[in-house]
Amino acid sequence: MIRYLSGQGKKAAGIVLRDARELALMREAGRIVARVHEAMRRAVRPGVSTAELDAIAEDIIRSHGATPTFLGYRGFPASICTSINDEIVHGIPSPHRFLKEGDIVSIDVGATYRGWVGDSAWTYPVGHIGKEARALLDVTEGALWAGIDQARAGHRLGDISAAIQAYVESRGFAIIREYGGHGVGREMHEPPRIMNYGRPGTGLRLRAGMTFALEPMVAAGHWLTQLDADGWTVRTQDGSLSAHFEHTLAVTDGDPLIMTVL
Ligand code: MG
Ligand code: MG
Repeated sequence: MIRYLSGQGKKAAGIVLRDARELALMREAGRIVARVHEAMRRAVRPGVSTAELDAIAEDIIRSHGATPTFLGYRGFPASICTSINDEIVHGIPSPHRFLKEGDIVSIDVGATYRGWVGDSAWTYPVGHIGKEARALLDVTEGALWAGIDQARAGHRLGDISAAIQAYVESRGFAIIREYGGHGVGREMHEPPRIMNYGRPGTGLRLRAGMTFALEPMVAAGHWLTQLDADGWTVRTQDGSLSAHFEHTLAVTDGDPLIMTVL
């Protein structure tokens, strides 16, 4: 959920967690986000409005002592982003927008808990979806896991970017290039920017304690995007379906630690 057109940020890493206490707080922020996704998985169905989903999400976030990170962020008017079908990211929940059988909906959730941020997105099928949509969801989620697997101390940022790109393109889909992942911690968007395409062995060297949001966005058609008149909703220019999967994670001395799970 960060926009950029130029190359990798010049600034080095953003936050590096200092100790187990900071890790535990950020993990709790992530757990709250995961609880919202658990509820979204159940609530997404034909006939539900995206505003209803937003209300459910806000309620869960606040009931756990957190605040919705997105609400008011650069003026964003809701607690979650809901992006349907050819919408890629930043769709605004509406009481007039109802999900229907066969849609896919990408739901992006952020929660701030005691000053720490969790950020995670998932694309959900609405009822029964077509074959192309199913493949798109599988490939985009697979790309996220391919990226996460590269988030290891000693690796470089470009290893993550290249793994995501290779996973998506080798399966005949297009990686969105104008948006990507980011450092996350005290704020939702911290350096570095994490492109979803690039070359292995380049960029920032990763070390334990760095925390990132990895978030491949994939199109079934071309990766070019356009912005709606609402100033927020980003969609594919060619009208093709798009999916978005995101986790917040910490680099450790061993396997990456995923924050945005229960
Ligand atoms: Mg993000
Ligand atoms: Mg997000």
